[in-house]
Amino acid sequence: MPRGNMPRQPSRSGRQEGLRRALRVPSKTVVTSAATRRAPGLPGTTLKGSAPKSAPKKKSAAAYGPLDPERIRQIISALDQLYPNVTCALTHRSAWELLVATILSAQCTDVRVNMVTPGLFEKYPAVQDFAALEPEQLEPDIRSTGFFRNKSKSVVGAARKIVSDFAGEVPRTMEELLTLPGVARKTANVVLGTWFKKNEGIVVDTHVTRIAHRLELTRQEDAQKIEQDLMQIIPRERWTDFAHQLIWHGLKLCPARSPRCADCALEKLCHAADKTWSTVEIHASAKT
Ligand code: SF4
Repeated sequence: MPRGNMPRQPSRSGRQEGLRRALRVPSKTVVTSAATRRAPGLPGTTLKGSAPKSAPKKKSAAAYGPLDPERIRQIISALDQLYPNVTCALTHRSAWELLVATILSAQCTDVRVNMVTPGLFEKYPAVQDFAALEPEQLEPDIRSTGFFRNKSKSVVGAARKIVSDFAGEVPRTMEELLTLPGVARKTANVVLGTWFKKNEGIVVDTHVTRIAHRLELTRQEDAQKIEQDLMQIIPRERWTDFAHQLIWHGLKLCPARSPRCADCALEKLCHAADKTWSTVEIHASAKT
């Protein structure tokens, strides 16, 4: 069996020997396969080290394309194995509680938000209770989630709008949700997908962004453009679950630092340059 197809033991540092070295090899010899250069839908995949035109093409390399439908199917399948019956990590009992929790989760961990919201909803059980507050009154209760002044304005503003314009019910359409103070597409997607079971878009947060880059599903940096790219390749009925699965994956196995690649069911499909373990070719073009 050719060297390179055998799983190797990770180094003590947790980073597989050879990965850093491979990335330092002169660009003509490394990192991306010939087929990656032709990745459909990924402009700019042109790469270090274009092979000479006369060079023979490797059959196996020619089969690789990051957006190949079969590869996408395998990614979804692996995520289903890792995270079956996935749901939102934010504790909630109603659309309103989920909306508030999602607003509070900006620049804050879900764990922290889940520590704050039970007491918050005990103190203010209904949307009308929030609508009756001044933002300054809410600030002490949500201070630990960070950016509490802006978040207080958003929560109280959203509550007032829901009470005045939507009869106290969280609206069920993207268009209406986006009229609420402090609600952008990400928050609206969370509420629509998780509570109302409507796949109107894909939640793009820091975890989704990072893992979509590592898996070469997009090259975009802007959240809305990332969402558009993902919506092109992920079947619509999977949009909500796919985002939840990537978020859980980011929390459990694939954090920004030291991803646990040796334990990851996506390992053979992942060519990210910052993997800590790899049995496949590394792609410097897979952003981290
Ligand atoms: S192999 Fe590593 S970098 Fe790739 S998705 Fe899995 S944990 Fe993340």
